[in-house]
Amino acid sequence: MEQGTHLGDEDAALKWLRGTIDHADEVGVGSGRYGPHWYTPGTHEVCENGHAKPLDGPCGHSYCVGQQATVDARTEGFYVTVRDRAKVGFLLGPYATHDEARGEVGRARDEVLSRDPFGASFWSFGTVKATAKPGRELKPGKLNDVIGLTAGE
Ligand SMILES: [Zn+2]
Repeated sequence: MEQGTHLGDEDAALKWLRGTIDHADEVGVGSGRYGPHWYTPGTHEVCENGHAKPLDGPCGHSYCVGQQATVDARTEGFYVTVRDRAKVGFLLGPYATHDEARGEVGRARDEVLSRDPFGASFWSFGTVKATAKPGRELKPGKLNDVIGLTAGE
């Protein structure tokens, strides 16, 4: 008898199945990469689009993540910031896109440095993506009312 030939498709199938279950566990139900049948009942629920997702957690499937990105404008956005080492000041925002925030960095810098020209040597201006705490909404930037969110406002 040749070695190995008696190991039929059943064994290979089992091996594949175990590997997949391990991988499904490894990436976790929150990844949205595996269907609900790969996970122990009671450890997950099914999102409105039929993906496995953690109990009370957001669905991690790329489709649902994309959907969430369009509806979470009040809790997720981009700000123009000023940094002083570990401290970050939120100057303008929130903006829906990184590009919008980036386009306003110059105006925010001009405004801040017109008030305190000495800050120029130790402050850095840039942008940051912010997510509101659960149940909260993003707060307006400190300069929103002073110079407006966009030029020409
Ligand atoms: Zn989903």
